[in-house]
Amino acid sequence: MRLLFIGPPGAGKGTQADRVAEELGIPHISTGDMFREHVSRGTELGEKVEKIMAAGDYVPDEITVRMLEERIGRPDATKGFILDGFPRTPGQVASLDSLIGEDGLDRVVVFTVDQDELMERMLARGRADDSTETIRNRFDVYVEQTKPLLEIYEEREKTVKVNGIGDVHEVTQRILAALNSAHVGHDANEEE
Ligand code: AMP
Repeated sequence: MRLLFIGPPGAGKGTQADRVAEELGIPHISTGDMFREHVSRGTELGEKVEKIMAAGDYVPDEITVRMLEERIGRPDATKGFILDGFPRTPGQVASLDSLIGEDGLDRVVVFTVDQDELMERMLARGRADDSTETIRNRFDVYVEQTKPLLEIYEEREKTVKVNGIGDVHEVTQRILAALNSAHVGHDANEEE
């Protein structure tokens, strides 16, 4: 199964991607994690992207797409994968389309979280960059940037919405249930 997870910062998307990947026996492919690993290993690619990442900018597509292509071409990805953090722009959707086809993704899991609840959760974990204002800003940036992607995948009838708030185990079960349901484009929250 080829999946894409989309969700706002703080929604627990990475954790859920790990858990669902384990459950389905497919790799969790996070371009952010891959870049961070290159940086910590001090590879040539890591040196190229370190400053870009530190500034919070996007790594150029030619680097990102090539890295992604190499990753999904590895043997462990033949059964499928969970993409996390890629594609992030309509241009990257087009690149992914040319790699796996327009119909290449089986499902796009969209994490829905109530902004007030997300705010409470992030403030509770007490990270230095988690002030009310920065959280709100990151959420706004997320909504702005993902809107075009959601529109593309909604049009293709690939999206399933999952409520990301709640117990970690419970959310994993919600995702698995949503993936097992025969029809896409529905809101899994409504079945709660
Ligand atoms: P993330 O962990 O997904 O938030 O990614 C961390 C950083 O890696 C981002 O701020 C970007 O600098 C870079 N990055 C990750 N994924 C992509 C992508 N699909 N396109 C461009 N840059 C990316």
